Amino acid sequence: MSFNILVVEDEDAIRGMLEMVLGQAGFKICAAADAEEGHKALEQAVPDLIVLDWMLPGMSGVEWARRLKKEQLYSDVPIILLTARGEEEDKVKGLEIGADDYMVKPFSPKELIARIRAVLRRSGKITGQVQIVLGDMVLDTEQHRLSIGDKQLDVSPTEFRLMQFFMTHPDKVYNRTQLLDQVWGRSVYIEERTVDVHIRRLRKILGVYGREDLVQTVRGFGYRFSLLVE
Ligand code: CA
Repeated sequence: MSFNILVVEDEDAIRGMLEMVLGQAGFKICAAADAEEGHKALEQAVPDLIVLDWMLPGMSGVEWARRLKKEQLYSDVPIILLTARGEEEDKVKGLEIGADDYMVKPFSPKELIARIRAVLRRSGKITGQVQIVLGDMVLDTEQHRLSIGDKQLDVSPTEFRLMQFFMTHPDKVYNRTQLLDQVWGRSVYIEERTVDVHIRRLRKILGVYGREDLVQTVRGFGYRFSLLVE
């Protein structure tokens, strides 16, 4: 599984270096030179993590991070702040606004990669699991198989991704925009009703095993996946 990382850094040399070393480490990189450009990239596709320079022309990295942490769609995206200054006070400020980690320039690319992996692991994005198990359901991300008990389900790639998201985020309510974002990504324009179509198909498949009520409609908001039936 490849993770998308958004790098926001105004210094060309550092941005280029980050693109290269993170790309070599197997991450998919999107790079921006300031907060405004970064925000546009974010609207196209929500990354798994942001590597963000503190000092940027225009809006500072720390101010942008503060704003992102208040937006429902982006508040979960982990942020690693880069800074030229190493004062303890800055570190505290960075972590206080919700950054997940903090690195002082010049840093070793190796250490940054290790920290990125640690943050992804902490945020639950790297589970280290090939198999996601919930109740008697098993989703195998390597073989792209979904089974209930000893029965293998016939699901499309979209429904598989939807199930993968649901099984790793049970018992929480997501609206259509959030599901589109998490399962489809935002790089393509898809109508919200597409979500309903796939939810219906998924329920139908689960219904064969008497499990259609795993996907619950929360009126006026969206959907929840839960083993607990109300
Ligand atoms: Ca800078």
